[in-house]
Amino acid sequence: MRVTDSPAAKFNPPEMPGPSNSRGGAQKRPAGPQAQPDTAKQARASSVFSEGAAKIAFPQTRPAAASASAPAAKPNRHDDSYAGFVLNTKVPELGSADTSAILGKVADNVSLSRGYLANQRTADAINSTLAEALEKSPTFRHTVSFASSQGLSDLGKVLFQTVYEPTDGGFIDDIELGDVYEAYEEGNPLPIMNVAEACERDIDGETRHAVNIGIAPNSEQFPAEYKFWQECLVHELTHHLCDSGDPNDSTSLGPTELLARQVAAEAGWGEMPGGSYNDPARTSAMTDRNTKALIAALGSHDAPVLFDRLKEICADAPAGTALPASDVSDSESDSDAG
Ligand SMILES: [Zn+2]
Repeated sequence: MRVTDSPAAKFNPPEMPGPSNSRGGAQKRPAGPQAQPDTAKQARASSVFSEGAAKIAFPQTRPAAASASAPAAKPNRHDDSYAGFVLNTKVPELGSADTSAILGKVADNVSLSRGYLANQRTADAINSTLAEALEKSPTFRHTVSFASSQGLSDLGKVLFQTVYEPTDGGFIDDIELGDVYEAYEEGNPLPIMNVAEACERDIDGETRHAVNIGIAPNSEQFPAEYKFWQECLVHELTHHLCDSGDPNDSTSLGPTELLARQVAAEAGWGEMPGGSYNDPARTSAMTDRNTKALIAALGSHDAPVLFDRLKEICADAPAGTALPASDVSDSESDSDAG
């Protein structure tokens, strides 16, 4: 079982597994993407935080200040109230030395993950997004500390991967680059797609938490999509950090998305699409974002080289560690991403 946040609503598996159940290697998933639409509602996005805060009574912006010394009974990890449980659990506050040390480890693990990452833009965006979240978001710092104090996950040990799989459940080797372009030009779903998830990966004999995330959109070309990508990265990490699940109903955002949106608000990433976890506005925005990012990346790299790399990653055959650089015209925006 894995936590899957997918735009491909048509697959719609009902499972809502937690990160502890997730599994890692992309190659172990012959069935193709199971889309667990990470839903949402954006219609209410502007009121999500205040509504959520009022309803579940968690601090809106300064979770570290929560003074509840004896957390109430632990809610179900799929319920919105679990977010309040996380935020109201008193944990040590992270200082700048702590966050600096964590970011150093994150950079090491992004580097260690290079064989499973599509391009340099994505590697850079992971580093800059987590730096931004740690710097600007008390909620993110709180969840990192919560994870540590609860023995859940170490942000400094999480690996990353960019796995695209066949959307029809077939084999990626049967898909040609031309099929991708043809689908795009005809306005059809792309034959390969990333299914964001909190998963695990074995490395050097050790099973590590990992996050599977799509290619990062160019932050200048697609600013809204990039911020949504950042929030998605935080969402998947939050599964690991908080052991939070996704909702079991069709109307909630779920604790993971509630926490991720609070991080996004604090980091200044704006409102996120959709008002519930499975809101079509949210799932279609994911598909749109991933489609734009993939097509743009294919256009900015040597497309056959990048496409072959995606196939290698999908087959869990680590691609070369030399990441395709972003195209020249994009290079400046990379450094601005964070
Ligand atoms: Zn999720």
